[in-house]
Amino acid sequence: MLQDMFESKGTFSFEVFPPKKEGEFEKAFDVLNELSKLAPDFISVTYGAGGSRSGKTLELADYIQNTLGIDTIAHMTCVGSKKEDLLAVSEQLNANNVNYVLALRGDRPADMSDGQYAARDFLHANDMIAFLRENTQLHMAGACYPEKHFESFSMESDLNNLIKKQDAGAEFFISQMFFDNDYYYSFLDKADRKGISIPICAGIMPITSAKQLGTTITLSGSSIPKALTDLIAAYGDNKEDMRKAGIDYAIRQIRDLQENGVNNIHLYTMNKTKTAREIMEGVYR
Ligand code: FAD
Repeated sequence: MLQDMFESKGTFSFEVFPPKKEGEFEKAFDVLNELSKLAPDFISVTYGAGGSRSGKTLELADYIQNTLGIDTIAHMTCVGSKKEDLLAVSEQLNANNVNYVLALRGDRPADMSDGQYAARDFLHANDMIAFLRENTQLHMAGACYPEKHFESFSMESDLNNLIKKQDAGAEFFISQMFFDNDYYYSFLDKADRKGISIPICAGIMPITSAKQLGTTITLSGSSIPKALTDLIAAYGDNKEDMRKAGIDYAIRQIRDLQENGVNNIHLYTMNKTKTAREIMEGVYR
């Protein structure tokens, strides 16, 4: 059980995504073969918000669980799904012996009307967690946001909502990426005072190019500390130097977390196996 590892030895895990283009999707299996050599405690696989590409998530999750023999967490979003859609996906996961789901609301797809959005079956992730708990054998994780979710007007209200996921049956959380550990420590402290008692995995995203940083801020809303913008200023023009500096930043971030008692690390690999390997080697050198 993953839960036992969180509490005892701690975990080092990876996130991968199913590439969109058919030709590229096949390469995801090579990515997984390479990542498996690093012996992660689990690998999570992302999911399209509307659920339209759920088959790709399921295919990769099946491969990780049953061919590579590594515990898998299949992400699942509910924003564009009906109850029966979630049950169909759950049944397939069950048939493939994939027992863990990261239960997410997801972001509203661009082509979803106001009416469709308002009438969705599951308003929030906690509704989905309660439903899956009631109707399936799956174990659920939820997402959390060390700098608050962008729709929340305060950290306080976001934490009041976060605890609803724990109450609904989430067994652990995986955090949004962050680049300044102080935000994470402050979040852990506030979450603890709110009564969050389930394990939290710290989400770390290595920034290996200047371009990636722009996309990352837009998608995650995470703050960028001066130490990281300084790296971009110093190395942004040189591809290989920037890659090395970004990897070094992630290693230092993870070491600092571990020195401060954070033992569950989830690496957003972006399917880059060399980067993941260099980070693991750097952390456990
Ligand atoms: P929720 O928990 O529903 O929260 C969304 C907002 O609503 C928050 O502001 C929260 O405070 C508020 N809220 C929550 N519950 C309630 C309630 N009961 N009443 C009132 N307000 C409430 N997206 C994908 O499409 N695919 C992925 O694979 C994916 N993987 C992710 C992995 C991680 C680790 C993280 C952190 C995010 C991931 N996302 C993914 C992005 C995620 O879908 C978005 O951040 C989305 O906007 C919120 O999803 P959620 O499950 O956190 O939503």
